[in-house]
Amino acid sequence: MALVPYDDRDGWIWLDGEFVPWREARLHVLSHALHYASAVFEGERAYGGTVFKLTEHSQRLVDSARVMGFELPYGVAELDAATKAAIAKNGLSDCYVRPVAWRGSEMMGVSAQHSSIHVAIAVWEWGAYYSDLRLTPAIYHRPAPTAAPVHSKAAGLYMICTLSKHAAEAKGFGDALMLDHEGYVAETTGANLFMVKGDTIHTPLPDRFLNGITRQTVMSLARERGLPLVERRILPAELAEADEVFVTGTAAEVTAVRAIDDVTYPLGPVTRQLMDDFRGLTRATAAEVAA
Ligand code: PMP
Repeated sequence: MALVPYDDRDGWIWLDGEFVPWREARLHVLSHALHYASAVFEGERAYGGTVFKLTEHSQRLVDSARVMGFELPYGVAELDAATKAAIAKNGLSDCYVRPVAWRGSEMMGVSAQHSSIHVAIAVWEWGAYYSDLRLTPAIYHRPAPTAAPVHSKAAGLYMICTLSKHAAEAKGFGDALMLDHEGYVAETTGANLFMVKGDTIHTPLPDRFLNGITRQTVMSLARERGLPLVERRILPAELAEADEVFVTGTAAEVTAVRAIDDVTYPLGPVTRQLMDDFRGLTRATAAEVAA
């Protein structure tokens, strides 16, 4: 596979308040974030030049940082404006947006009370995140809310995700199904999970993992359609009895799960409906803003 490295591309990255040429957006090896994972990030998608739920994402970045004990030097409105400027500066319309904030290099050691806080926003074209999604159980459980700041989109929480996803890929699967600390179904390594059984949609309670913005959007789309929906603890064995399984996320959008280990699922009517509704909503929002 020919990889185009992410540090060797054309374009502009918004870094600490100004645009720098893509290849020059660098940081020092003695940055606290690199050693101690004191970084938070966002993942957003623009449709027709408009970021879907931009302000919600900017707010979540600010909130994630607060959970991690630091305050961003930019407010939500400034982050919104910088994101729009980054998309325009790079001449993109349908793209992925990656804001990231981290502790700088003033202090080394676990404590970093006086480190500077940096923020960058990069944008690039990114197609479908999953294709023909098949899952296998993850090699790690998600941490308990008493073991990690589970509601922050903190870089450190993704360590077990990368390891789990690599293990799944080594077995020929697209992603890993992560359970929570009590053994209930949680999510994949980068998307929330739903199952359909009969006429009802079931999804795990988001008290121990990220309550995704796409998850919340898809739940309101389902309610608008009058589809019965319950949030509850789900045992992994229940998935074997499901009629449909799908995942939601900014990168994933709404993606049907086609198999969990050797149990296969069709791309069923509920998943298809919600995929269409989500596609319609993201495009309609873009058209509204453009009008
Ligand atoms: N869970 C995890 C672990 C994620 O990384 C993501 C992607 N941000 C999600 C869920 C879905 O969140 P959202 O819909 O806000 O993108």
